Amino acid sequence: MCSVGGTFDVDMAEGPEGYVCTECGSQFKGIGKDPKCPKCSSDKVVKIG
Ligand SMILES: [Zn+2]
Repeated sequence: MCSVGGTFDVDMAEGPEGYVCTECGSQFKGIGKDPKCPKCSSDKVVKIG
């Protein structure tokens, strides 16, 4: 593997997954391994579904 330039850290094979924020209880769809709550910007979220 010899890739120069931009690489994709996000697995494109996976679609948005449901998360719930443990800070404010907001549920949202997130992509990636470190999603953040759109309401309170907390990263204390857990995957649901
Ligand atoms: Zn939140």
